[in-house]
Amino acid sequence: MPTITLDSFIKQNNIENKSKNIGKNKFYWTGHPFVDAGLVAILLIANKNQPKELTNEDIEKVIEFASKLYAKKEWASYLHGKIFPNNGIIMSNPGMSKKRTPENISKNLKGLYNNILEILEWSSKEKRCIVCGKRKPHNKDIYRSDFPLLGTGGMLNFFHSANPKGEDICAYCLFLVQFMPLVAYNLPNVLIIHAYPYEKMLELCKEGFNYTREHSLVSNARDFKKPENFLFKKIVEITRKVESKSKFWKNVSITLYYFRNGNRSGEQYVDIIHIPTSALRFVAFAGEVDYNGWRNILNMGWIVSRAKKEKLSFEELEKSYFNEVYRRLLNEESILEFFYDKKEKKANTKWRLLEFYCLEVLGLDEKTLEFIKDVGDRIVETIKELEDNKLRQTVRELENATKLYQFENFFIRVEKIRQQKGISKSLLIFDEFARLLTSYGEDINTSWRVVRDLLLFRIYEKLHDRLIKAQSSESEEEEDEIYEGDEE
Ligand SMILES: [Zn+2]
Repeated sequence: MPTITLDSFIKQNNIENKSKNIGKNKFYWTGHPFVDAGLVAILLIANKNQPKELTNEDIEKVIEFASKLYAKKEWASYLHGKIFPNNGIIMSNPGMSKKRTPENISKNLKGLYNNILEILEWSSKEKRCIVCGKRKPHNKDIYRSDFPLLGTGGMLNFFHSANPKGEDICAYCLFLVQFMPLVAYNLPNVLIIHAYPYEKMLELCKEGFNYTREHSLVSNARDFKKPENFLFKKIVEITRKVESKSKFWKNVSITLYYFRNGNRSGEQYVDIIHIPTSALRFVAFAGEVDYNGWRNILNMGWIVSRAKKEKLSFEELEKSYFNEVYRRLLNEESILEFFYDKKEKKANTKWRLLEFYCLEVLGLDEKTLEFIKDVGDRIVETIKELEDNKLRQTVRELENATKLYQFENFFIRVEKIRQQKGISKSLLIFDEFARLLTSYGEDINTSWRVVRDLLLFRIYEKLHDRLIKAQSSESEEEEDEIYEGDEE
């Protein structure tokens, strides 16, 4: 039987005590995107869903995994260049390149892990970590080399105007943030997708992590260059894959942190892109009910020259170019005019998607929408009696209505057509006319422009074949811009 010395007995017990501190329900979310991302990396490695399920073996696994990667030359230069310049813990500091081995990095991370202190009592008056507020800060100020985007400390380098102050951050948060790069996307700036509830964050970060695990490389987000394009693409893909479809995103909040924390002047910034709930729900619904229609909508919004657009496929466009549709969704502005294609005289989507957009995003009430749809059908019933050229001309009047009086004139014109063609009832009774033009007036959500766009959608939907036939016999002016906005 081996003898145990008192020393080794105490040492062993100490380790176990420390382990117990961390192993038993001591992992928690903080709400800070970078720290939470580190926790996501650990959960993905452990193949677990909840922080409270994590064990010391899981932590050892993540330390080993990260240390091996971070010791690689290409990882060190990526980490140094974009996330952790001169970091001493994971040794991205170029001055450490000789000592940079998986063993040494792992030693640093374990040291930090063992330095994580007990969670403070609520009543404690002790100074607390600014990120999680639960533990005492680490024994020294933390700077941007160890935690992205904080103050510079003594390392002013090129930033004479920078904030030299460090922050009070605890060892727990500092430890977690070291693993954040494992779930980041490199687009060329660094993208962290933060989401609540956290199970959705795991889903959204999985791709980056799996890529890293498989290839030992940083995921470049399939070569996407715009974070919002990548996110919305993923939303549609995940929606189509999961059983609950678009309901998967109910009550979900997503924020993108697109940042760089380099060493050179102008290389410290973060774009915080909050995804409005309405945009998230709409894009998910589009992916579920009318994927092709959604692509048609997007295809109208690329900010690119006509020549380029003709050469590039949808997949190439979505990787590199801004889209006006995304921009508006993120700014909670209307995208109604992208639901139809004036040039091709066609509706881009099914009515069902348009309806969802009007009710759930624009906040139109159902009765109003039904009423406008009905007016659209009455217009169609009237103008379909016209010969092709006249039909085309009449629709063009609506297309070109950029002022309220022009919009009014269109109705008068249609009313006259009804009389000429001997259609029994009038197009609108007075109340309806007033409702369409006055009560919707210039209201932001239900302006007459909304009504115009909905009517055009309905007309294209019903009369596309005849309109396009009439068009081909006319010569249309060529336009240079792809996207054309409303004239004010
Ligand atoms: Zn903390």
